Amino acid sequence: MWEYAPAPESRDIANLKPNYRMFVDGEFVEGGGEPLKSVNPGTGEVLAEVSTAAPADVDRAVKAARRAYDRVWGRMPGAERAKYIFRIARLIQERGRELAVLESLDNGKPIKESRDVDVPTAAAHFFYHAGWADKLGYAGYGPDPRPLGVAGQVIPWNFPLLMAAWKIAPALACGNTVVLKPAETTPLTALVLAEIIQQAELPPGVVNILPGAGDVGAAVVAHPDVDKVAFTGSTEVGKLIQRQLAGTGKKLTLELGGKAANIVFDDAPLDQAVEGIVNGIFFNQGHVCCAGSRLLVQESVAEELLDKLRTRVSTLRVGDPLDKNTDVGAINSAEQLARIQELTASGEAEGAQRWTSSCPLPDKGFYFAPTVFSNVSQAMRIAREEIFGPVLSVLTFRTPDEAVAKANNTPYGLSAGVWTEKGSRILWAAQKMRAGVVWANTFNRFDPTAPFGGYQESGFGREGGRTGLEAYLDV
Ligand code: NAD
Repeated sequence: MWEYAPAPESRDIANLKPNYRMFVDGEFVEGGGEPLKSVNPGTGEVLAEVSTAAPADVDRAVKAARRAYDRVWGRMPGAERAKYIFRIARLIQERGRELAVLESLDNGKPIKESRDVDVPTAAAHFFYHAGWADKLGYAGYGPDPRPLGVAGQVIPWNFPLLMAAWKIAPALACGNTVVLKPAETTPLTALVLAEIIQQAELPPGVVNILPGAGDVGAAVVAHPDVDKVAFTGSTEVGKLIQRQLAGTGKKLTLELGGKAANIVFDDAPLDQAVEGIVNGIFFNQGHVCCAGSRLLVQESVAEELLDKLRTRVSTLRVGDPLDKNTDVGAINSAEQLARIQELTASGEAEGAQRWTSSCPLPDKGFYFAPTVFSNVSQAMRIAREEIFGPVLSVLTFRTPDEAVAKANNTPYGLSAGVWTEKGSRILWAAQKMRAGVVWANTFNRFDPTAPFGGYQESGFGREGGRTGLEAYLDV
């Protein structure tokens, strides 16, 4: 049996503290809410205790953000704002090792992903938006585009630091101030980002970070002095927020769930496609809103592709998130693990053929072995519902039209993938598919210059690129 050996120095590298406090008006303060315990999903042990916000704290934070907006940030020339945002980006790089280890401890993702994806992409997001801060006039928004005011932002647990960067960077670049609520299972890196914001000497109140559960998010969203709400999370909560804000005049963007199709045509380079499929569904344990969770493969190559895929998936190493050789880390929480188990059991009960990698799993912590379901039909729950775990559902098709029809047979519409040698087929499929992002002969590629967001029940609004600025400006 594989032995779990936690590196004792990891707590030091992550600068892990026993207690974390919320960040309001430029200071770290105790919140009035019941403290929460952040758990290391790699071991199941408590990492730290985190203070949470009570309703009065939400009000204090929003007032601080309003003051900072009225007196300083909303009036500051873009070129000045840019300097602060650049500083944040540089400090994320400088503290990159600490952030990466802390992210893997708190979230369960493999260190090679937090080190090579989450942290650098978070820094890239601040660099990119710092560049916009003094160029909004050139972006076609007129000489003096106006920010919205106070942005209330709520984020999920799958990319805790990166989602905070996606939210905070464009808001600041456009001159808004921020009250952000991280997810209850992963508050730690957002609070280190708060330290960085303090280190970068942003004026007090420009960014406030309030840990807590859904009630704190709901209080931020509902606060009458919040002008704009940006939410990333489940479609269920997104719809709730949409109803809650109806008639308030607040601006809203929603980045919600997905059930992306990854289509492999018979002319695709199959070995390359296998790598893209593996990255598409096993990256970040499949805790990815745009994960390629439905593989649609052309019938004539289905058997060959599945053989190659199972062989490749068998080589994935599941285990300690801090081990540099780990490919698939820990499931973020016991609740999420139970949900994945329930949905995969439904797949078997509904008659899909289950294949699970025989890799050894650590005996403590929350782990789930990479799983591939074949003989999946569109009616099955594993083909319709977001599993948000390392589970792939494989369906087949005969013609390109059938592939696109199956890809679009979902209430979601966040992303999709196409694998083919034919450029014309890529363009054709990209046009036909209702998905905010379509990757061709690759998957899960992110860049701050490219707008990201969904169709249908995957939400509305875009983050990133010039289009992403529109969510934070009155044009
Ligand atoms: P979730 O909706 O349960 O929680 C998301 C956040 O909302 C958390 O911070 C939570 O505390 C808060 N929240 C819960 N109830 C709330 C309420 N009533 N009002 C305001 N805030 C509330 O989602 P999750 O389980 O944390 O994240 C997984 C989901 O997020 C998946 O569906 C995934 O697809 C989606 N997601 C989407 C994107 C995207 O860009 N589209 C990115 C990452 C994750």
